[in-house]
Amino acid sequence: MAKYGMVIDVNKCNGCHNCFLSCRDEYAGNDYLPYSAAQPLHGQYWMQIGEKERGSYPKVKVSYIPLPCLHCGDAPCIAASPNGAVQRRSDGIVLIDPEKALGKKEIVNTCPHRVIFWNEEKNIPQKCTFCAHLLDEGYKEPRCAEACPTGALTFGDLDDPESEVVKVLNTNKTEELQQAYGLKPKVVYIGLPKRFIAGEVVFGNHQGECAEGVKVTLIHDSESKTIETDNYGDFEFEGLTANSSYTIRVEHEGYDSKEMTVQTRLDMNLGEIVLQEEA
Ligand code: SF4
Ligand code: SF4
Repeated sequence: MAKYGMVIDVNKCNGCHNCFLSCRDEYAGNDYLPYSAAQPLHGQYWMQIGEKERGSYPKVKVSYIPLPCLHCGDAPCIAASPNGAVQRRSDGIVLIDPEKALGKKEIVNTCPHRVIFWNEEKNIPQKCTFCAHLLDEGYKEPRCAEACPTGALTFGDLDDPESEVVKVLNTNKTEELQQAYGLKPKVVYIGLPKRFIAGEVVFGNHQGECAEGVKVTLIHDSESKTIETDNYGDFEFEGLTANSSYTIRVEHEGYDSKEMTVQTRLDMNLGEIVLQEEA
């Protein structure tokens, strides 16, 4: 018996919504009982695409974060449904039983990720099923993963060392969404947005010229990392820890170096850093 899971690579997601649309195509108006009843035409997003904008002009980044049900190994939606209205199959897929969940609106609020939706017309809670009805027919992946043009969604058997999902897990650093919830999700992420520090260096005696090749060092605890400004004089450190203190040192031969301490409460655009010639 397979144990299904998915890896979502945020770095590869361009926000095209193909996954969302294929999910809607599969479920809107289509019954797959006993797996799921038809989605209404409006108001449900079994695959949501969150958009996170970071930084400030002109150093702005946008990340798209796809969010299906995470099919948690320790799922509060199951724990809060003692009559079996929400169940985990032996392959790990968490399903809401449309019959047993009839009238149980309270199930919607049991998911801290807010991926359960209320169907007013049918009087039932509903969510992503990992396309269990298709998997049981022999399909290898749900519609969303099949439709993704960038390979951002990798689905498969977590117990099969030859499966693509296991290879992706073994070769990348993955993390849980909202790890503090402690839900042991079967959907994990690569590249969830962290903090960044960016800036632009110019030489005081050549204003208007890009200061290319300037050494910029990031220091945090006892570790440091040095990069060089690009041909626009820009630099950037990505993947930093939130609410931490970092030191930035900017150095170039013939110029006075500059050092500053930065708190990553937010993503930081340090703006223009002017290096003056040594006296
Ligand atoms: S993401 Fe929410 S609905 Fe899905 S299994 Fe986890 S708690 Fe339940
Ligand atoms: S189809 Fe792929 S690239 Fe497009 S929004 Fe979904 S996950 Fe992102």
